[in-house]
Amino acid sequence: MRRVSVFGATGSVGESTLDLLARRDDIEVAVLTGGRNVARLAKAAIEHRAELAVTAFEECYKPLKDALGGTGIEVAAGPGAVAEAGLRPADWIMSAIVGAAGLAPGFAALSQGTTVALANKESLVTAGPLLLAEARAHAATILPVDSEHSAVFQALVGEDIATVETVTLTASGGGLRDWPLEKLARATPEDAGKHPNWDMGQRITIDSASMFNKAMEVIEAHEFFGLAPEQVRVLIHPQSLVHALVAFRDGAVMGHLGAPDMRHPIGYALNWPARGDLPVARLDLAAAGRLDFAHPDRARYPALALAERVMQQGGASGAVFNAAKEIALDHFIARNIGFLDMARVVEGTLDRFAARATSGRAPTSLADVLATDTEARHLATEVAVSLRHAP
Ligand code: NDP
Repeated sequence: MRRVSVFGATGSVGESTLDLLARRDDIEVAVLTGGRNVARLAKAAIEHRAELAVTAFEECYKPLKDALGGTGIEVAAGPGAVAEAGLRPADWIMSAIVGAAGLAPGFAALSQGTTVALANKESLVTAGPLLLAEARAHAATILPVDSEHSAVFQALVGEDIATVETVTLTASGGGLRDWPLEKLARATPEDAGKHPNWDMGQRITIDSASMFNKAMEVIEAHEFFGLAPEQVRVLIHPQSLVHALVAFRDGAVMGHLGAPDMRHPIGYALNWPARGDLPVARLDLAAAGRLDFAHPDRARYPALALAERVMQQGGASGAVFNAAKEIALDHFIARNIGFLDMARVVEGTLDRFAARATSGRAPTSLADVLATDTEARHLATEVAVSLRHAP
């Protein structure tokens, strides 16, 4: 039996992971964690006979304890308990908590030499070098779960990374792809919250429309595969059937195609290094008919230039970028700022942070990363408020 834990089990990636686990009989579930969705966490813990269920919020302890009364499932609560659960022995963990809260359990699991299937984008963007060093130090494995990174990872099997010229991540272009540029400034959270191909939560769907999601992925690819900033490219591909392309020095291009279903990259990480059956729709290219590609319009998607800036600057700028993006998104959802203001908030925050004496210093610990996150959130709030009051 393989011992498996799922961090962020009540979320979209977490539920897809549980769906795959439920189809297997060689899995023992050690830990499931969730946030405020206590009913869903309790149900999953019972269904999967988890050893331990952890909610990230202290105030959810009692409801979770009550819901799991008489089951023998251990219960814990609070961010410390989530991080500690990363130390509980497991052969494979899914890191699918959203936001910076996902960092600590991921680091804890790596320190145990565990294989970590990494969906949490923030880990690589805010703390890439630290995370990879932690994995190396403990002979742990990180498997990418973001669909584009899983696609690149799969295209690189048996290849030497030194022979790679470029990696191209595809992007649907989001729900506002065909809007006239002058109308974009007036887009509402509802307009930006509709995705043409992927079924995801509101925040990540808006991040797709602004391409902040792709910008995060570009930084992730740069960190994870050790690519130079100019080696990581983005192409708009409205059909979302080609997930990534890897171009080699001999002119060959390996592409990864498949239906847009997160259970593919999750299942690949679960079965790795083997391939196993997965319950995903089979690709029918004749039915798809055509595959279109275009260069992203940089005026429409300023997030991409900001990602390049972060890759060039390195140091703490990934943590600043991520925190500022979160604050910008909060203010956009609250209708305090416009759609295009989100990039202005991130740019203004990077500028303000760069003006600080300590800005060039790379974080040396998880605590450093989290301190930068807090500082950047304050700066980003100031920038967002200044834009809100702009005429
Ligand atoms: P969701 O918002 O659907 O789920 C997030 C999970 O994290 C839930 O279990 C939630 O609990 C939990 N959570 C929320 N806040 C905290 C906290 N402070 N501490 C601990 N746990 C918390 O997110 P997704 O599943 O969509 O995404 C998860 C991660 O994977 C993100 O980093 C995302 O960028 C990345 N990703 C997502 C993809 C997708 O298709 N959705 C694709 C690739 C990567 P609860 O709901 O109970 O409050």
